Amino acid sequence: MDEFDLIKRYFEPLQTARSDVTIGIGDDAAVVAWDAADALVIAVDTLVEGVHFPADMAADLIGYRAVAVNLSDFAAMGAKPRYATLALTLPQVDGEWLEAFAEGLSEALVGADTALVGGDTTRGPLTVTVQLVGGIDGAPMTRAGARPDDMILVSGSLGDARAGLELLGADTRPSAGGGQELLRRFMRPEGRLELGRACRPHAHAAIDVSDGLLADIAHVMAASGCRGEIVREAVPLSAALLAAVGRDRAIQYALAGGDDYELVLCVPPTALDRVLGEAERVAVPLTSIGRVVVGEGVICRDAGGTDVTPRKTGYLHFD
Ligand code: ADP
Ligand code: MG
Repeated sequence: MDEFDLIKRYFEPLQTARSDVTIGIGDDAAVVAWDAADALVIAVDTLVEGVHFPADMAADLIGYRAVAVNLSDFAAMGAKPRYATLALTLPQVDGEWLEAFAEGLSEALVGADTALVGGDTTRGPLTVTVQLVGGIDGAPMTRAGARPDDMILVSGSLGDARAGLELLGADTRPSAGGGQELLRRFMRPEGRLELGRACRPHAHAAIDVSDGLLADIAHVMAASGCRGEIVREAVPLSAALLAAVGRDRAIQYALAGGDDYELVLCVPPTALDRVLGEAERVAVPLTSIGRVVVGEGVICRDAGGTDVTPRKTGYLHFD
């Protein structure tokens, strides 16, 4: 199978998710109908084997994840994706692997109403780059909009994915129940697209948690020129995480573990009820974990007010 057969067989079927693709896979570039009312939103993320996912991770999960991490970025802006491109570097052509990979990719794309419209296929160490193009109806949520007095809210629960990643590395099979849930949180991040779009008109600022909660909040504070104060005891932890690793490690993973793909929102107190209402409507838990104040950086305190900020607040590629 040469690369053109491969593209035709595995990737062409993924462009049918939308009817507004004028020229899709097969020509020199993709062309889509675009309505000028929406601002154009573009994001790209690369997953490298051995860096972003373990070498033996199942192909469908790699495909799913490559889209999901981009959907999470769109969620953090309050944007809606429409089209995707895929730059795929493969060590060899393995039909079974490609079949499963395309299936995972398709599941995530179709769930987000997004069509694959093009890409590039090359030989080399396994690397998956997905780019999303979409629109936003109104002003985006940015990292720069947080203001003193804003409440800091986070969706879902934190730390599960990091614990799941540890389980993947362990030789032992994860115990039934909780272990599977933690693995799922790492392997199949959901992205909070609906929540992001629902909160966009009300929130001052947002970011998705990919590096680690405190590190990502620090990005918002740096962009906004404010300081984030987080109450450690308020950070939401799942029962599965607490059962698997105990409270101390659960907190450590939640504050700095990364790969959560939850949303952090900075919301003025006057908009809190509306935002909580939207979260309820889209059935995503939202927890208040702190406040924006005058200053810079991020600080984490325990319930008694003592500074318990960990030295390492998230993942860095070039530490
Ligand atoms: P070119 O030489 O013009 O760059 P390519 O041979 O790279 O074209 O690709 C041929 C067509 O297949 C193009 O339309 C491209 O967008 C599409 N394509 C290539 N690789 C992928 C992929 N992994 N997923 C989706 N479409 C792809
Ligand atoms: Mg090319």
